[in-house]
Amino acid sequence: MSIPENIAKIKEELPQGVKLIAVSKTHPVSVIMEAYRAGHKIFGENRVQELVAKFDEMPKEIEWHLIGHLQTNKVKYIAPFVSLIHSVDSLKLLSVINKEAQKCDRVIDCLLQVYIASEETKFGLSADELHELLQSSELDQMQNIRICGLMGMATFTDNMQQVRMEFRFLKNLFDEVKQKYFQGKPWFKELSMGMSSDYQIAIEEGSTMVRIGSNIFGHRSYT
Ligand SMILES: *Cc1c(COP(=O)(O)O)cnc(C)c1O
Repeated sequence: MSIPENIAKIKEELPQGVKLIAVSKTHPVSVIMEAYRAGHKIFGENRVQELVAKFDEMPKEIEWHLIGHLQTNKVKYIAPFVSLIHSVDSLKLLSVINKEAQKCDRVIDCLLQVYIASEETKFGLSADELHELLQSSELDQMQNIRICGLMGMATFTDNMQQVRMEFRFLKNLFDEVKQKYFQGKPWFKELSMGMSSDYQIAIEEGSTMVRIGSNIFGHRSYT
């Protein structure tokens, strides 16, 4: 199937209110343009350099999301244009994003990445670290960031029951944190979970944003 057909098929499956982030990492602009011309406007990249290069080359109405690990020294490159950063995993990083956003006279939307997998390799905060971050008094001073929700990646496994339990854990944490720290802050509403192999489960467990690469663009030639 073609890229536009893949996107159409996935969008048909998404309940109202669930956004599709087309993960375009490793794919060239010419290929991403096929999705854009079919009407898709939200793309996710996991590397800063690649994200900046594609932003420069592609139509400016595109919403670019950073979904991969972000180093503090690279925030300045994406601060002028990024729409949503899914992968914030420390107070330090939040404060750098805030500072760079201020320089651009912007408010940057962020999600806090929570570690839900049983693997060593994934980034993110533990539930305890998340609470600690959200209780920090420094947060109140950060006028140029807006925390819009949580993001998580399930374990890479065929055990779909395990994946479901990890998503359920994140949804429960989301509800708890929303109730505890975000009353009267309606922008805290996003739960970014689900990729090509597990997005149907993620939706059943309450996802509001699915990040899908391979099912749209085919296999990536690296990793
Ligand atoms: C690559 C990536 C995805 C998409 O993965 P697919 O399995 O190709 O859908 C989603 N989220 C993150 C954080 C990624 O790095």
